[in-house]
Amino acid sequence: MSPSLSSPSADSPTGPDNPYGHSLPSYLQAENLGPWGNYLQQVDRVIPHLGNLARWAETLKRPKRVLIVDVPIHMDDGSIAHFEGYRVQHNVSRGPGKGGVRFHQDVTLSEVMALSAWMSVKNAAVNVPYGGAKGGIRVDPKKLSLGELERMTRRYTSEIGIIIGPNKDIPAPDVNTNEQIMAWMMDTYSMNTGSTATGVVTGKPVDLGGSLGRREATGRGVFTVGTEAAHRINLKIFGERVAIQGFGNVGGVAGKLFAEAGALVVAVQDNGGTIYREAGLDVPALLKHVAATGSVGGFASAEVLATDKFWDVPCDILIPAALEQQITAANAHRIQARMLIEGANGPTTPAADDILQSRNVLVLPDVIANAGGVTVSYFEWVQDFSSFFWDEDEINARLVKIMKNAFAGIWQVAEEHNVSLRTATFIVACKRILHTRELRGLYP
Ligand code: NAD
Repeated sequence: MSPSLSSPSADSPTGPDNPYGHSLPSYLQAENLGPWGNYLQQVDRVIPHLGNLARWAETLKRPKRVLIVDVPIHMDDGSIAHFEGYRVQHNVSRGPGKGGVRFHQDVTLSEVMALSAWMSVKNAAVNVPYGGAKGGIRVDPKKLSLGELERMTRRYTSEIGIIIGPNKDIPAPDVNTNEQIMAWMMDTYSMNTGSTATGVVTGKPVDLGGSLGRREATGRGVFTVGTEAAHRINLKIFGERVAIQGFGNVGGVAGKLFAEAGALVVAVQDNGGTIYREAGLDVPALLKHVAATGSVGGFASAEVLATDKFWDVPCDILIPAALEQQITAANAHRIQARMLIEGANGPTTPAADDILQSRNVLVLPDVIANAGGVTVSYFEWVQDFSSFFWDEDEINARLVKIMKNAFAGIWQVAEEHNVSLRTATFIVACKRILHTRELRGLYP
């Protein structure tokens, strides 16, 4: 049976109570609606499938380390501004923490905790030797000058410097952070430690120990997993209609690759507008327009849609590639697509997952679909350690091989357990995490 047809009841939450009566602190509980609450529900769905390892399952529900930092900087006008920054290391059983840094005005601790936990699952799903971590600053970076952005990035890096490092926790880009910000982070950490520590961050400029292919890696992984899944449900890529929310690093590259494979990218939404063209948008021209103006808004030869109409667009493949909690019980029933590929982290709530499953929409979950970025980050880190750099063909070939193998294993587990691909990915990943947790034991 296809995983999309499996019964939602097989995924029902049955998490065990803590027998010692130490309930989770309130900020860790599922009633804490938001990304962390969604993550906890996803964990509850996997616990019945963990066998003896279930005794360690609460490990998954508690981040190992949460750091909240004050980030004060001098503004250009002479005032002093304070920003709130976070770095959360969810789990480091399988290796150093690994996960991006997000600069966004809506960043919260719940969000960063959830993103760090999804990194633990993702890294284990593709079997790269990392734990999960994530960071962020609650700021709208578009309101800062370049100098203010650099000072904020450097002060944040200094503040979290006590817990990051090439063997401890390795940040990377995420929403509104890029190669330049990684260069500043690498330089700040290096200055503070009296070293040239290229391996402390990934997603760096190629001239500074970055990897060829890293910028495109997440979108390439989305395309690879999407193609693998499409074959299994008799969906062609050529001629299929694709709708994409978020046209940045992930959505833009995924859109380019789908268009190159002959798909019609019919709708794109970003934070500056929603555009539609039934015959397919000119994706290379759209990418140029976004590079020049910062948004898809104002793109010629496309119809403008109201923001909420995006969810009704007739399409075969939907790629959310912006932020979390976009597809909820309120709009899941409107989605026309046959397959949903999660480029973003956490775009679909558990309630929406169930609705999509009942409507036979195949969901390729974030924890495998967008794992291409961290996979090439792993290649970058390995290259930095060995000071030996690979060519782009080798990187892309290794990326595609890892993604295809990981996805094939997850598909098989979904069929064996009759569960969704999300729960199957959690089964594969959580078993790996908890197995290492058990092998290492508790110390002291
Ligand atoms: P980005 O900053 O390059 O692009 C974000 C895009 O989302 C932009 O087009 C922006 O306009 C759009 N957007 C923001 N808010 C929106 C809203 N409310 N409605 C519609 N569109 C909106 O970021 P990115 O690196 O492409 O990351 C996008 C998602 O992919 C995030 O969830 C991120 O965590 C995830 N992700 C990124 C990577 C990576 O390597 N960059 C890896 C894995 C997962």
